[in-house]
Amino acid sequence: MSDGPRFDVAVVGAGPAGASAAILLARAGWSVALIERQRFPRRKVCGECIAASNLALLDALGVGPEVERLAGVELRRVALLRGTERVVAALPAADAPGRRWGRALGREQLDTLLAQQAALAGATLFQPCALQAIEGSPGRFLLRLRPDGEAAAETTIEAPLVVAAHGSWEPLPAERGERREQRRPSDLFAFKANFRASAIEPDLLPVLSFAGGYGGMVVAEDGIATVAGCIREDRLGRDREARPGERAGDVFEAILRRECAGVAEALAGAEREGPWLAVGPIRPGVRLGQGDGIFRIGNAAGEAHPIVGEGISMAIQSAFVLAAVLEPERPWLLDARSAAQAQAAHLAEYEARWRRHFAGRLRIAAAFAHLAMRPAASAVAWPLVRAWPGLLTHGARWSGKTRFVPEAAGLVAPGSGGARPPRVALGG
Ligand SMILES: Cc1cc2nc3c(=O)[nH]c(=O)nc-3n(C[C@H](O)[C@H](O)[C@H](O)COP(=O)(O)OP(=O)(O)OC[C@H]3O[C@@H](n4cnc5c(N)ncnc54)[C@H](O)[C@@H]3O)c2cc1C
Repeated sequence: MSDGPRFDVAVVGAGPAGASAAILLARAGWSVALIERQRFPRRKVCGECIAASNLALLDALGVGPEVERLAGVELRRVALLRGTERVVAALPAADAPGRRWGRALGREQLDTLLAQQAALAGATLFQPCALQAIEGSPGRFLLRLRPDGEAAAETTIEAPLVVAAHGSWEPLPAERGERREQRRPSDLFAFKANFRASAIEPDLLPVLSFAGGYGGMVVAEDGIATVAGCIREDRLGRDREARPGERAGDVFEAILRRECAGVAEALAGAEREGPWLAVGPIRPGVRLGQGDGIFRIGNAAGEAHPIVGEGISMAIQSAFVLAAVLEPERPWLLDARSAAQAQAAHLAEYEARWRRHFAGRLRIAAAFAHLAMRPAASAVAWPLVRAWPGLLTHGARWSGKTRFVPEAAGLVAPGSGGARPPRVALGG
């Protein structure tokens, strides 16, 4: 037996997925440990667009009014920028009164609001505190945690059920060796920087297409622009060789300015705030079915190419799906005598729902990403987009921008006039 504290569930990672799950489960009466490695607020590589389909969910999670107050203006149009060309189309509206258009908000704000809300809902926040190892199996997991700070001693907590919400760019300790062996030239590296005084139209979401990569720009809170994107490692490597001594982020910015005229125009009079952030390699794909008895949500479950900016949606919506699967069966899932069998059955049920709701979004995102990154493919697609800009509107709809998972649909019933009182969605 460990002599550390015991919880019903340990949630690893307090990004949008983990914090949302912690809020939903804590409100439903579970004792929740929420473990987050980093101190908040913190900047994070992300395009920072919150699709319209999330806004009613953020209301339900208790952070909607603050998001509404802080975020940039409604995003009503999308543009595709490639070389010197630009095509503009309408973004599709979500079927949620008062919450029809997406907004942009820095992750330093969004993630902090959600983590605070989790603590208000009753979750115990271990932060900054990194998960070092997980031992055990469903019914009795032991999690070794290392609090930040040299003097801090390692602690162990115990929980019958574990939810992994640690994202996909920082592997859990057990996954690190495997990741190192898998490096390939087509790996994507992701970058993000903020700019003041850009000339991006505030209601516009420009998507960038260039050889070996893609990106996006948006105006978020206080008029600050976020520029983010991904680039293949081999492409970035070639450009870095041509610009010896320059930092990778600066080389990425130079590529964007050179290969998308719209970026050069938008940033002509702008001033960068802070350095470029970088993460990678990122590997879009599904990460379910690992056979370790752990429930995965958000990027830890599966990652869409960020060209569609749907990662925050999938993070929050997968937390709703998980809460709907777990909550009605709490006694069986947590009781040591039934936990192994009950968790295996519910893990299978949860993963099946996840695939049903999100696997299609990953495929669409992958198709768009490969079109955007490959000059030959984008040269073929470009005349079609120019002739029918509405394809961009459909593309945004196909990628999930307006879609709610059924588990959350009750929260955003048409005609409700906007926010509903917070509650846990149990349907589906
Ligand atoms: C270039 C780029 C642009 C993007 N643009 C958008 C966009 O515009 N809109 C959108 O919706 N999505 C976008 N995304 C995707 C989005 O950023 C992710 O899908 C989203 O952050 C996933 O949320 P999450 O909660 O699953 O994981 P994360 O947000 O990654 O959170 C995971 C958390 O777990 C913590 N953690 C990790 N390991 C440990 C550990 N061992 N112990 C404790 N804590 C740990 C981390 O510190 C982190 O806070 C973009 C991604 C990229 C790369």
